[in-house]
Amino acid sequence: MKKNILIIGAGISGLYLGYQLKNKGFSIKILEANNRIGGRIYTKENHKTKVELGATWLWRYNEELLKACKELKISLFEQNMNGDALYEATNTDLPQRFKVPKNQEISYRIVGGTTTILDKMLENLSSDELQLNQKVVKIDDSKEAIKVITEQSEFTADIVISTIPPQLLINSVKFSSKLDTNLIQVANNTHTWMKDSIKFALVYKTPFWKDKNLSGVAFSNIGPIAEMYEHSNFENNHFALMGFLNGRLINESKKQREAKIKEQLFKFFGEEGKNYLSYEEKIWNEDELLNFKNEKLIPPHYNNGHEIYQQEYLKDKFIIAGSETSKKYGGYMEGAIYRGNQIVAQLTHKFL
Ligand SMILES: Cc1cc2nc3c(=O)[nH]c(=O)nc-3n(C[C@H](O)[C@H](O)[C@H](O)COP(=O)(O)OP(=O)(O)OC[C@H]3O[C@@H](n4cnc5c(N)ncnc54)[C@H](O)[C@@H]3O)c2cc1C
Repeated sequence: MKKNILIIGAGISGLYLGYQLKNKGFSIKILEANNRIGGRIYTKENHKTKVELGATWLWRYNEELLKACKELKISLFEQNMNGDALYEATNTDLPQRFKVPKNQEISYRIVGGTTTILDKMLENLSSDELQLNQKVVKIDDSKEAIKVITEQSEFTADIVISTIPPQLLINSVKFSSKLDTNLIQVANNTHTWMKDSIKFALVYKTPFWKDKNLSGVAFSNIGPIAEMYEHSNFENNHFALMGFLNGRLINESKKQREAKIKEQLFKFFGEEGKNYLSYEEKIWNEDELLNFKNEKLIPPHYNNGHEIYQQEYLKDKFIIAGSETSKKYGGYMEGAIYRGNQIVAQLTHKFL
């Protein structure tokens, strides 16, 4: 009998687990609360230009992610850093030009957008195996088969794997059995990577910054744009800039943020900076499927990959996965794949 494995969450962790476990011969189902896949991978298209409002880069040392990309026939390209960068130190000084040192670790992007990696994994899954708009609210282990209850429906499985970031899992899903108090304590103090970031992207008709020998890279101490990078596509026929906004802007309206960004773009590039075709932003802090809002200040990556996540729960039928549970590169896409491979090996060894 094939073991039924139910995976909660269709971010890179959930989709990779589904893809790998199905390939190994398990029967799988993925439940996603949102009306889209991806979680913290969020590629949006505007004026035929794909922009990343979530994860963008990978690096040479992301060994397991690179291996997965190779298997899925995903192509990578270097983040363009050619030309001068801009640095804005104070409100009163004009932005200064500087050369980014050449010996930095190279960042790579995925041709077609980060979502391409997810789309390739999806090719192998049926519409029954991946169900959107299924927000898990309760896990009941009182019977032999474990029951997963969503806002709309109920499912049973032999094994359940959650990929919800641990702090959110513990605070948003009810359990019929009392969970280990140490697990609750650690999960409540586990940092969720990028949960407070604000990302923005601007699509332009032309890469006008290149004519000025600028790379599109800019840093500012005063904001609203804290850091910005060139974000044109691999084919170099759709042009964009993308970056992170200063966290203070969370308290303003989208209109106010955009007005301030326009002002700063004018300081960086003159009139051309203001003439973008589209402005996109994503305030991750407001995303209830990522962030459990509380007053706790947790240092970045704190408790990521904690020993407590390497155990199984609810009579060995419940596994806590997701990037933050990875012993290596927790919080990053590499962490999601590393932890996914570990769980696939564990389940294969146990059941096949
Ligand atoms: C702005 C930003 C920039 C980033 N940049 C990079 C980068 O350049 N490089 C890099 O390596 N990493 C980056 N990251 C981190 C990277 O995105 C994450 O490591 C990775 O996407 C995590 O994947 P995951 O599947 O473990 O978690 P998630 O992507 O958070 O997926 C969890 C899924 O669970 C779903 N879910 C939540 N609650 C429920 C529920 N109750 N029921 C059902 N489903 C539920 C969510 O909707 C989500 O789809 C970035 C993240 C952000 C936000």
